[in-house]
Amino acid sequence: MNPKKILFVIIDGVSDRPIDGKTPLDSASTPNLDYFASIGINGIMDTIAPGIRPGSDTSHLALFGYDPFECYSGRGPIEAAGAGIRLEEGDLAFRVNFGTVEGEGSVFDKTVVDRRAGRISDTDDLVEAVSKIDLSKFGVDFVFKRGSGHRGAIVFKGKVSDKVSDTDPKEMGLKVKRAKPLDDSEEAKLTAEAINYFMEEAHKILEKHPKNAEREKNGLLKANVLLLRGGGKVRKVQPFEEKFGMKLAFITGTTLIKGIGKFIGADLIEVEGATGNKFTNLKAKFESAVKALETHDVVLVHIKATDELGHDGDFEGKREFIERVDSEIGILKNLDFSEVCLIVTADHSTPINVRDHTADPVPVAIVHEGVRVDEADRFSEFVAYKGGLCRISGKDLFNIALDLTNRAKKFGA
Ligand SMILES: [Zn+2]
Repeated sequence: MNPKKILFVIIDGVSDRPIDGKTPLDSASTPNLDYFASIGINGIMDTIAPGIRPGSDTSHLALFGYDPFECYSGRGPIEAAGAGIRLEEGDLAFRVNFGTVEGEGSVFDKTVVDRRAGRISDTDDLVEAVSKIDLSKFGVDFVFKRGSGHRGAIVFKGKVSDKVSDTDPKEMGLKVKRAKPLDDSEEAKLTAEAINYFMEEAHKILEKHPKNAEREKNGLLKANVLLLRGGGKVRKVQPFEEKFGMKLAFITGTTLIKGIGKFIGADLIEVEGATGNKFTNLKAKFESAVKALETHDVVLVHIKATDELGHDGDFEGKREFIERVDSEIGILKNLDFSEVCLIVTADHSTPINVRDHTADPVPVAIVHEGVRVDEADRFSEFVAYKGGLCRISGKDLFNIALDLTNRAKKFGA
């Protein structure tokens, strides 16, 4: 018999706090999601812990069997992994924006007039030019890679400290910040000096780069500064396949979740039209998930727009998008649930009236031959808690899936 497979469908931020007793998920017509709830075991889940508001990154780590408190050190390392930079333990990684500054004097005297450099999209030449900066006098080396649009990631290698502040003021109209050492160590002082030197040199190179001259001629904002934020030291994690002896695939249109996938050693399966927003090609994503189960033991389909619509405070839009997810997820009814364990859940709630992530537990439904089917017959915040899983923690979910698929190791004799 083939080893059994695990399929995660994570509908980002799908659950809500009720408004007048209603939520987008509960008021949406979701016959397929309800079907999975009715043939599965259900519950609610604190993806990190009760009352801890999860990021999408930390919650995904927890759901795939990693302790975020142990292996997460900020968004920088995740973005850098997503950008394809090879990370070593102890590296210092930041997210980077190309921005626009104006004014006189050094880069730190200048004012940020746009944090996205007019949403520049083609940064290859600029990245290449900046990559020639030499930080060897600080005992530091670096790798800089572009991400999508104005984004990128930078990794400093050598005797670096993460006890340094960001250079991104995070608001327009403010001056570029100097990196400051946040403790008394020599490493923090040197790291801050290296970053500030890098900031100044990068500005000089970008300011006179022909690409920016051309942009200016065309009435576009110059991409003449790099803004660093989300700095964190890379902590090496054991790759998923080594840790669990299973092959993992991620299907997602979202850079951050791709970064999590790379960070833990998942194969990223690219799907045409998987955009990470409400126009995403859901059908293609579910189809490629079914296909991926032939080559991988654990597969994630991540759906982002529910979270975005929650951040937008768009009740109707979120409800409609949930109905679209429901109609496309119907294809998974054809799976053989004696071979595949299907888990439908979310990474956190993104309530319409909060417009941000909250720690309200998320519904979870697990469908597999042998689960103790409970009375929950709808996929809803208001029904899930009646199910047989009761209230579980995100770090338990993967263990439960391992046990249901007969992969768990026995504890004791
Ligand atoms: Zn999320």
